[in-house]
Amino acid sequence: MQEFDYIIVGQGIAGSVLAYQLLKADKRVIVLNDESLPTSSAVAGGIFNPVTGKNLDKTWLADTLFPFSREFYLTLEKETHTRFYYETNLFRPYANEQQRRHFLQLTDEYDLSKYIQLVKPNQYQSIENSLGGLFTTLAGWVDVPLMLSALKKLFVQKAVYQAEKFDYPALVLTNEQVSYKTFSAPKIIFCDGYYAMQNPYFNWLPFNPAKGETLIATMTDYSIKEIVNQGAWIIPLGNQQYRFGSTYSWNQLDWLPTQESRENITGKIDKFLKIPYQVIDQQAGIRPTTKDRRPFLGNHPAYGNVYSFNGLGTKGVSLAPYFAQEMLYFLESKKDLPTESNIRRFYSLYSLQDKV
Ligand SMILES: Cc1cc2nc3c(=O)[nH]c(=O)nc-3n(C[C@H](O)[C@H](O)[C@H](O)COP(=O)(O)OP(=O)(O)OC[C@H]3O[C@@H](n4cnc5c(N)ncnc54)[C@H](O)[C@@H]3O)c2cc1C
Repeated sequence: MQEFDYIIVGQGIAGSVLAYQLLKADKRVIVLNDESLPTSSAVAGGIFNPVTGKNLDKTWLADTLFPFSREFYLTLEKETHTRFYYETNLFRPYANEQQRRHFLQLTDEYDLSKYIQLVKPNQYQSIENSLGGLFTTLAGWVDVPLMLSALKKLFVQKAVYQAEKFDYPALVLTNEQVSYKTFSAPKIIFCDGYYAMQNPYFNWLPFNPAKGETLIATMTDYSIKEIVNQGAWIIPLGNQQYRFGSTYSWNQLDWLPTQESRENITGKIDKFLKIPYQVIDQQAGIRPTTKDRRPFLGNHPAYGNVYSFNGLGTKGVSLAPYFAQEMLYFLESKKDLPTESNIRRFYSLYSLQDKV
């Protein structure tokens, strides 16, 4: 048996960020990850944006999460010698006069000055912006696939990673220890994203998974450095490549790209993009979104050494660093998890019938 402090299942954003923080705290970790599975992290736009939606709502815990994740990603970039964190304004051109008035009223009513700057009309040639728009500042994007491959490399170097499909029936639990094949540890943490719905330990949690798709396009005459968002977004990836996204669907939960989603995204993009583009790729993923839009963190109600770090939903990039730290404090210092993200709020849904 190889002894560890933690067995972690999954190497998406959740498992990677948590494993990294546990390693930084000098814990012995083994990450088991099924590389044959499609994942949400592989297709994520990676956008972080403190003010979102039709009503310019400040996102949950923005003042706490954004400074924390900034520090986290900048440190991780240095350690992995990889550039994947991009701070850039997010430009929202006004779609029409009504929206312009609505947004201006909101910026007057709420103090969003830290996060919003007004942009004059016609600053850009390649998109429709004749009414002007808003910059969301303190926004940006993370190249998630690149970050995860840098972290995998780090885990492999430290010999804490194994490509492995976790076989749930092979998990053996006692009060003190969990063992899985040749691995043993006091605790196991499932970071299996949408696949948790088939995980016998956590399939009772109220997920509300949302399929989403993005496109990769090329453009030769587009020079906007900011993320542009008006119903659909454009992220400049570099090398004249751009990610367009994204869709939301709560039906047909599979990992396959569809013509319908492609048309949905290009239809929205065509409304404001004035120059030609060519779509070269299309990707689909399933977000581990939850019914109450809050993460699923904590320990199993019946098996105290089995944990969940999941439910990052549409905001894995901004939620993962801070909540991985909360999870670390919970695991190592017995500090309670924030109530809103603690799966204890759903213990009543777990019944004896759910017993593994
Ligand atoms: C189209 C789209 C756009 C998005 N855009 C953004 C965005 O702009 N900003 C943002 O913050 N978020 C975005 N998201 C959401 C983001 O992708 C998720 O919040 C995040 O990726 C969830 O990470 P995760 O690690 O929980 O899940 P996943 O990335 O799905 O990872 C789960 C991991 O568990 C592993 N696994 C599962 N079962 C097993 C098993 N039995 N054995 C071994 N390994 C297993 C899988 O192989 C995988 O590595 C987007 C998502 C989609 C689909």
